[in-house]
Amino acid sequence: IPLDQITEDQARKEAETIRPQLIKWGKEYYEQDSPSVPDAEYDLVYDRLTKLEAKYPGIVTADSPTQQVGGNVDTELNKVAHPIPMLSLGDVFSNEELAEFINRLQTEYPDDQEFNCELKIDGLSISLRYEAGKLVQASTRGNGRIGEDITKNALKIPSIPQTLSRPIDIEVRGECYMGKEEFLKLNERRQNDGKATFANPRNAAAGSLRQLDPRVTADRHLSTFMYNVADYDDLQATTQSGLLKELKELGFTVNENFAVAHNQAEIDQYIEKYQAKRNDLTYGIDGIVIKTNPLPLQMEIGHTVKVPKWAIAYKFPPEEAKVKILDIEWTV
Ligand code: NAD
Repeated sequence: IPLDQITEDQARKEAETIRPQLIKWGKEYYEQDSPSVPDAEYDLVYDRLTKLEAKYPGIVTADSPTQQVGGNVDTELNKVAHPIPMLSLGDVFSNEELAEFINRLQTEYPDDQEFNCELKIDGLSISLRYEAGKLVQASTRGNGRIGEDITKNALKIPSIPQTLSRPIDIEVRGECYMGKEEFLKLNERRQNDGKATFANPRNAAAGSLRQLDPRVTADRHLSTFMYNVADYDDLQATTQSGLLKELKELGFTVNENFAVAHNQAEIDQYIEKYQAKRNDLTYGIDGIVIKTNPLPLQMEIGHTVKVPKWAIAYKFPPEEAKVKILDIEWTV
């Protein structure tokens, strides 16, 4: 039923059919690192649920996937609490939806509004805690409030510094990923050994990082790009782009393909540029992240239970295909 014609009752019923399916796919993806459907299918159904709930906020339930970050943590790894939650990102799939988002921010927060555009790395979120400049804990995002302890594994990833250039206390967040070549080699090896192959580099990275034996992680050649901190107290940066430069000075690997944009046209140019370059990169990206650049403005804009309101992910269109989900034919 088209969104502009659907009644609240019909929307509630549809949402009730969609949610269990999304929850099942979420478990396969986040907890078992083994999705049974492509991301584009998941995104399409998730997007429909978001729109139904936005039209009729009364139908939102607390257990809806739109209100939850990631998946639960039930591996044998120790659990780690995130006092400052690790969030997800809202996403848009078209230039029109993106323009709407940017317009809203420019209208509601006209002062100092500029944007930092970054590549959306296709991996999994990690958090690294340093005390007096020494790495003391590494964890996964998990459900945003409780993640898994992967400290021993992080010590085996060369791009993660064990000592920073300044002896500060800081919690840095970013993406752990597996490069395209490593992914192909790993799957080839697994196939030769008669083992199940990974569906994509993101799942391979997640499966390789969430290991009880750090030697397995070491053997998988993971990399990281860091882009965020839990809080800014000990930093000098006042903008997102400045933060990336400061993280680099501290010893982290950051993705250097970021650019500050002042308006929609500059954002569109950035998107076009990297959409064209996407296949030449040695790591996977599934979109572009556009963030309010001034850090104080990010704080002022704030976040929902699930996503920051000062950032959005523009997802690249997938290859077109027709699929049937929940008895409805979708074009993805
Ligand atoms: P997401 O991966 O779409 O976006 C949020 C994440 O982007 C952040 O948590 C962060 O880890 C990452 N990120 C990468 N580069 C970043 C940057 N420069 N700045 C900030 N963040 C950056 O959100 P999600 O909630 O982790 O997962 C949703 C995704 O997972 C969707 O793409 C969906 O298709 C996929 N998924 C697929 C299935 C399936 O069955 N195929 C199931 C569940 C989820």
